[in-house]
Amino acid sequence: MATALVTGGAGFLGSHLCEHLLEQGYRVICVDNLETSTLENLEHIRDDAFSFVYHDVIEYIDIDESVDFVYHLAALASPIDYLRQPLHSLKVGSYGTHHALGLAKFKRARFLLASTSEVYGDPQVHPQPEAYWGNVNPVGPRGVYDEAKRYAEAMTMAYHSQQGVDTCIARIFNTYGPSMRSHDGRAIPTFIRQALDGEPLTVFGSGSQTRSFCYVDDLIRGLVLLAESGEHMPVNLGNPGEFTILELAETVLRVTDSRSEIVFEALPIDDPQIRQPDITRARELLGWTPEIELEEGLRRMLTSMGREPVSV
Ligand code: UDP
Repeated sequence: MATALVTGGAGFLGSHLCEHLLEQGYRVICVDNLETSTLENLEHIRDDAFSFVYHDVIEYIDIDESVDFVYHLAALASPIDYLRQPLHSLKVGSYGTHHALGLAKFKRARFLLASTSEVYGDPQVHPQPEAYWGNVNPVGPRGVYDEAKRYAEAMTMAYHSQQGVDTCIARIFNTYGPSMRSHDGRAIPTFIRQALDGEPLTVFGSGSQTRSFCYVDDLIRGLVLLAESGEHMPVNLGNPGEFTILELAETVLRVTDSRSEIVFEALPIDDPQIRQPDITRARELLGWTPEIELEEGLRRMLTSMGREPVSV
């Protein structure tokens, strides 16, 4: 049985990944400090092949067994979290990635870095291929997340080329699904909560900025395919279906059959205007393509919350 270690394994993506890996027959070690995650995401897992290690990855990681895969997902991924803890965000990206890579080197494990579309910043190329270097403001509020991930990518490549670690890099675009925190500040869980509570949906700016939303099951499938491949260079993982944030708010209202109004609030600083993955590489290298479209994914999310979605 192969062993996978997942940093950030109690978070939104991490917990879905742990569950998927267990279903695939892996032994899974979840490492998390529960700073922005919760054991509730893991409490339904009843599997002897699963263990949880309470640990902050900015400290040295010591694991007393063999490890075949290190999935490094730990991060303060939501704007409300990294804006609250900017230094910690930088430390997780730097010390945390260094420790996770050191572990992979010591264990001779394949290493996957969960990077992000944020490495492209506010892109001037559309859609964004991996060859695009990005347009990030290092001293803006988002810099503490974006630059941490860019640094983590540089460190991953250095461990690969200098130390011979078997690494890969997933650039993850906006992903959503069951068990996202309803107060995590992201557009989809926020709009769903507001729609269900009969509160106004808070669209920032004019709502003309775009995002491309990938359902979590599709994303996790892509992550594991990438980890199990021999690829070393970055690969975009995301759903190319692109929507304005206003279209997203309207879709949430339809799927929830909510009569909430839409209100417009100030656009956050450095909020990217467009975002759409070019997934040519993922298609060609991994045979991966997302299958679940936005409305279907939103319906699944509502069902998981015990709500009845409306067919649209
Ligand atoms: N957004 C919004 N209202 C909200 C939360 C987010 O209009 O209550 C916007 C946000 O400004 C951004 C988009 O939705 O343009 C996606 O935001 P999110 O935080 O989900 O992801 P990210 O900005 O990291 O892509």
